[in-house]
Amino acid sequence: MNTQQIRQKTEQYVLHTYNRFPVAFTRGKGMYLYDAEGNEYLDFAAGIAVHALGHAHPVFTNAIQEQAGLLIHTSNLYYHDRLAEASEKLAKAAGMDKVFFTNSGTEAIEGAIKAARKYAWLKDHKNDHEIIAMHNSFHGRSLGALSVTGNEHYQEPFRPLIGGIRFASFNDLESVQEQVNEKTCAIILETIQGEGGIYPAEPAFLQGIRQLCDENDILLILDEIQCGMGRSGHMFAFQEYGVEPDILTVAKAIGCGIPVGAFLLNEKTAAQSLVPGDHGTTYGGNPLACRAVSTVLDIFEKEKIVEHVAQTAPYLEKKLDALVRELPWLGARRGKGFMQGLVVTGRPVGEVVQAALGKGLLIISAGSDVLRLVPPLIITEKEIDRLCDILRTL
Ligand SMILES: *Cc1c(COP(=O)(O)O)cnc(C)c1O
Repeated sequence: MNTQQIRQKTEQYVLHTYNRFPVAFTRGKGMYLYDAEGNEYLDFAAGIAVHALGHAHPVFTNAIQEQAGLLIHTSNLYYHDRLAEASEKLAKAAGMDKVFFTNSGTEAIEGAIKAARKYAWLKDHKNDHEIIAMHNSFHGRSLGALSVTGNEHYQEPFRPLIGGIRFASFNDLESVQEQVNEKTCAIILETIQGEGGIYPAEPAFLQGIRQLCDENDILLILDEIQCGMGRSGHMFAFQEYGVEPDILTVAKAIGCGIPVGAFLLNEKTAAQSLVPGDHGTTYGGNPLACRAVSTVLDIFEKEKIVEHVAQTAPYLEKKLDALVRELPWLGARRGKGFMQGLVVTGRPVGEVVQAALGKGLLIISAGSDVLRLVPPLIITEKEIDRLCDILRTL
């Protein structure tokens, strides 16, 4: 099928919930994607921060191929080797104690919310517990996750959402304190807000939230679905702050394209929350997904991916800062590591994204006016230079 045929069939049969860019990809290699006509695109979107290792990484591809021929699925009624392997590696990488694997990020958030509510319920057997979430946040599209997503536009058509959610302002500790009461069971936030426009938490804010949680026996849920897995220059973004969550959600890059997410609990939370009968999933943590997670973590270690991000990010930041000074349509840069946002002024961000596509560069937007750069974590100075060259022509 050529691009035209692929587009036509897709629009005919797929429910129209996305306005797709007029390009159809058929393969990828490393930092590059190729469309149905063989044109090459430099990938600074990485399937929305998913392809940490780039496309078709040979070790990853071999592992998935081998696992597909061994065992893909068993259900969670039985033990399997890959779950044992992946859960240990992920828990150790995050410094958490227990893992529950899901199929997506939004399901990880659902699990986190249920774990927090159960923890509070076990203390007083009341059903009026509240969760504090942030304005401008994004936690997913299922109803629980949508309920803690601080975006009126996403929520409005789907009310009533789940009850007991209060909103505060990100990086405004006082606004969070104002929402705390005896019913508060959890505070949920992204360590670096992604979809909302790339806003890193300020250290004093995150540390203040942790203290607030400790003083009131409130659980801290950190959503690192986008900013985790090395993207910030640390394995998980929170590790830079000297603050640990009680519940951590991950997805996107942990499976590098195989659909998998997880929520992780510390010992305190795990001991007082979900037990057999409380939560489940047919697919979650199946052998194929766990082999993906396990292999990704092995490659991270072997290829020193996190160190590479930490070493190369200053070069990216320096180049982007120079662009902000040089190009009149760029207002500011925000972000950490390979999760960077450029504020676009005086022209629609969509126009920039569209123009980049025409020049063979894949970038995406965030918020209403931010260019989001979330490339594979394997990028080098060469691709960063190429990115800047293309941005200069837009
Ligand atoms: C992408 C994302 C989600 C939702 O993940 P899905 O896999 O799309 O359900 C939740 N939280 C954050 C921070 C995300 O970036």
